[in-house]
Amino acid sequence: MSAQANVSIRHDWTRDEVQALFQLPFADLMYQAQTVHRANFDPNQVQVSTLCSIKTGACPEDCAYCPQSARYDTGLEREKLMKVEKVIEEARAAKASGATRFCMGAAWRSPKGKDMPYVTDMVKGVKALGLETCMTLGMLNENQAQDLADAGLDYYNHNLDTSPEFYGDIITTRTYQDRLETLANVRKAGMKVCCGGIVGMGEEESDRAGLLIQLANMPEHPESVPVNMLVKVQGTPLAEQADLDPFDFIRTIAVARILMPKSHVRLSAGREEMNEQMQAMAYLAGANSIFYGEKLLTTPNPEASKDRMLFKRLGIHQESYEIHQDEAEQEAEIYQALEERQNDPFFYNAAK
Ligand code: SF4
Repeated sequence: MSAQANVSIRHDWTRDEVQALFQLPFADLMYQAQTVHRANFDPNQVQVSTLCSIKTGACPEDCAYCPQSARYDTGLEREKLMKVEKVIEEARAAKASGATRFCMGAAWRSPKGKDMPYVTDMVKGVKALGLETCMTLGMLNENQAQDLADAGLDYYNHNLDTSPEFYGDIITTRTYQDRLETLANVRKAGMKVCCGGIVGMGEEESDRAGLLIQLANMPEHPESVPVNMLVKVQGTPLAEQADLDPFDFIRTIAVARILMPKSHVRLSAGREEMNEQMQAMAYLAGANSIFYGEKLLTTPNPEASKDRMLFKRLGIHQESYEIHQDEAEQEAEIYQALEERQNDPFFYNAAK
């Protein structure tokens, strides 16, 4: 494999090519990833999102890594769907601490009809604050995807988690194809896609390659690609999983950057367990997005102030979210309409 970095957008990556990238000497891989990164992004800029759990626990799915599954006893307290107003308050605080995107996650197999009006109100309210919006609510049919898009949702997160070959070892309650269909519905509705996976679940290097090939060979690359390191939670089937070599994690980030040159590659769950040097190496490998906030849904995450200090030491600045004047006016109108609904019991919902 030549040391020349390929900066073109491709959707035809072969397994041999991707496995060859994984097997490059570390310095050569990092060089290629940096070259691709610099050709497409400001290398000293990182996008910051905040993640809020709008409905916690009691999920019927059996994802082996997840403390929110009702099947595992992890001591997690389940919470009902958060009130719309509370979500907007959380978003306002996230914006004040520098986030440009507010991601809302619900532990559902898929949203029910009765939930949709609440979540679409959340989207409108958060967007009205001038934040980009993202949601992860499980599987979506075409109509649900369209309703979210119509409400103004910018991104939908739905991860593939791992390779198709290893997937059945991790989840049995929904298929890989189910996930691909949800992603297709999201695209069809015109939303941006946030889709990645988790490493360190006992998969082989070929599975990490397999996941990245799935993502890179989609008709359009996901705009956001979260790469999560497994957070081992007591009570889940993966609680005793052996640690992944940190260099293999960095390699996964670097290969994601090379395969999807224009996507934001997000350093996601597992950052709490990484020292500053490893996080800096992830940025060098091409990661250019993180989550701020003390929790990622239910697992710990470094405090925002620690991130800001690391950014300062590394000379990293945060990406800003520019909204155009006409969008700003439109959003002000939406916000006013929501404020006028303060007495509407639907706004202060009593969702079950
Ligand atoms: S990862 Fe999502 S779908 Fe899977 S158990 Fe957790 S909350 Fe449910």
